[in-house]
Amino acid sequence: MIDCIFCKIVAGTIPATIVGESARSIAFRDVAPRQAVHILVIPREHHSNIAELSANDPEALVDLMQLGSRIASDQTTGHFRFTFNTGELAGQTVFHAHGHITSTQPAKA
Ligand code: 5GP
Ligand code: ZN
Repeated sequence: MIDCIFCKIVAGTIPATIVGESARSIAFRDVAPRQAVHILVIPREHHSNIAELSANDPEALVDLMQLGSRIASDQTTGHFRFTFNTGELAGQTVFHAHGHITSTQPAKA
């Protein structure tokens, strides 16, 4: 989708620190991390929020949850949040579905 910042990250036209990928989803570090671990997981295809993704492409939703869970178990001690702000009044600012993986507990090196 033209003018969607996350579609541009999927296309590689703006840079991001990618931490994981699957056929349907990608994961990258949030540009303004609010916790020690702050990773965004998005579907490669544009859907405006997680409810739309769930309704329109449930297989992509499962893929996103599986990639996110894998990344969270790699990057944290297993104590994390996986959250989806949905709608402007709930704090959504980028209208391409995305989950936030946040944790104060990075995986030990
Ligand atoms: P929301 O508020 O919509 O739930 O989350 C959007 C998130 O995207 C925010 O945490 C914000 O820091 C992050 N973000 C916005 N623009 C960019 C960008 O260009 N690159 C990356 N990596 N993260 C971004
Ligand atoms: Zn998009």
